[in-house]
Amino acid sequence: MKFIIATNNPKKLKELERILNPLGIEAVSAKDLGVKLDEVEETGSSFAENAFIKANAAFEKTGMPAIADDSGLSVDALGGKPGVYSARYAGENATDEDRINKLLEEMKNIPDERRTAHFTSSVCCILPDGSKIAVEGICSGKIGYESVGEDNFGYDPIFIYNNEKTFAQMTAEEKDKVSHRGKSLQMLQKELKKYLEEN
Ligand code: IMP
Repeated sequence: MKFIIATNNPKKLKELERILNPLGIEAVSAKDLGVKLDEVEETGSSFAENAFIKANAAFEKTGMPAIADDSGLSVDALGGKPGVYSARYAGENATDEDRINKLLEEMKNIPDERRTAHFTSSVCCILPDGSKIAVEGICSGKIGYESVGEDNFGYDPIFIYNNEKTFAQMTAEEKDKVSHRGKSLQMLQKELKKYLEEN
């Protein structure tokens, strides 16, 4: 079964394709399918609601089964911010660097032991019969004091995993093994397998 990946974010698309295809889930970007996905308003108050909104919009537009990820970073000392607003934290046209700088500024007086945070990846898959699978993966870590690392996606350069390295210092393989998205997509694989056996 071929799925459309419901995202226009190239960095997220790269991760989703990289993780899904080795799991045996044939997932194709809108671009490769020659489809233009409309930007959908993420009006939900949870990652799960927003993942559903995005997957359902792609399913309705194309008639194809669809997979969407809604994700973000929640910092404990900031009451869970930026959370569902992670992508829009520094305004609409801001860059990853702007968002990182804003977060580091807000956290400048927060001591080491209170810099705990986690990423969430909520994944929604809409199946050909319109039913859905929803799963969620979490990865805990700490927020650093400056950007460290190269291959950058979002808040990766300031998210320290296991008190060792930032996500941006890890290889793709290392990150996918422990990340929120690696976990949510492995759960999706199990649930999809069950669905395909039963249908
Ligand atoms: P959305 O799911 O499109 O609303 O965007 C989620 C935002 O959260 C991304 O644009 C990133 O800023 C951030 N984010 C989600 N997952 C990751 C990750 O694995 N690394 C770094 N930032 C992430």
